[in-house]
Amino acid sequence: MASHLDARSLSAWFGSRKVLNRVSLTMPAGRVTALIGPSGCGKSTFLRILNRMHELIPGAELAGEVLLDGEDIYARGRRLTEARRDIGMVFQKPNPFPAMSVYDNVTAGLKLTGTRVAAADRDVLVEECLTRAGLWKEVRDRLRQPGGALSGGQQQRLCIARSLAVRPRILLMDEPCSALDPTSTRRIEETIRELAEEVTIVIVTHNMQQAARVSDRCAFFLAEQATPGVIVEHGPTDVMFSSPRDQRTADYVEGRF
Ligand code: ADP
Ligand code: MG
Repeated sequence: MASHLDARSLSAWFGSRKVLNRVSLTMPAGRVTALIGPSGCGKSTFLRILNRMHELIPGAELAGEVLLDGEDIYARGRRLTEARRDIGMVFQKPNPFPAMSVYDNVTAGLKLTGTRVAAADRDVLVEECLTRAGLWKEVRDRLRQPGGALSGGQQQRLCIARSLAVRPRILLMDEPCSALDPTSTRRIEETIRELAEEVTIVIVTHNMQQAARVSDRCAFFLAEQATPGVIVEHGPTDVMFSSPRDQRTADYVEGRF
C-alpha cells in the first residue's frame, strides 16, 4: 500500500526573506503529483521541506507541518535519517558517486540511513532496484564500472535505483529530466509511471508536456512581484490543462509566461 503526504500551511524563509506563504497540498498515495510554475516561486524549497533538507541550509526557517501517512515528520523525537529513508530525492543534475561502482552506488544509501540488508540479499536488491529504474539490462555486465562512466540518462536512472534501495514511501524528483536528451527523458517518464504504482511521486517540472504525460495531479506555484510563493491552483492534471479556474494558470500552462 502506497503512502500519502500532506503539506499543511508551510511557510519558508531565507533570513528575513519569506519565500513560501502558507502552502498546503495533499499528495495522494500511488499518484504522481507535478509541481509547476515559473523559476524562483519556491518549488525546490517546498520539495526540500518535504524531506527535511531545508533545515540543513544556513539561515533557512520553516513553519507548518508535513504529515507522512498522518504522522508529522518534524515531530519531536523523529529523526532526520528516518525522513530521509522514507522520502527519497532525485535531483536535476544526476549525482551518482562518480568513482564508486554502479553496484556500490545502488547500495550507498543503506548505510547512510541505517537500513540493514544481509550481504547475501544485496545482489538481489541491486538487481531489483536497477530493474525498477529501467537500467538493469544495460548495466548487468558493468556493475563494477564506475558510476561516472555511464551516460547522463543512465546516471540519472542509477540515482533513481539508489533512491529505491532504501525502500522509500515517497520519491521527490526536482526537474529530473532537465539535463537529459529527449530519449532519456522518455525512458525516465516511463519509469516514473511504473514506479507510481508502489511509490508516491512528487515531481517538479518546467516541461508542460511532461507534466501532462506523467502526472495525475498538478499544483501551480506562483510568486508575484515580491510576494512569497503560493499555490494558485491545484487539481487533476487533465482539469488543470483543459479548464483551469484561474487565468494565471491558463496563461502559464499555455506558455504565455
Ligand atoms: P524554484 O525551485 O521554484 O525555482 P526555489 O525554491 O529554488 O524556487 O527558490 C525560491 C526563492 O528562494 C528564490 O527567490 C530563491 O532565490 C530563494 N532561495 C532558494 N534557495 C536559497 C538559499 N539557499 N538561500 C537564499 N535564498 C534562496
Ligand atoms: Mg527549483
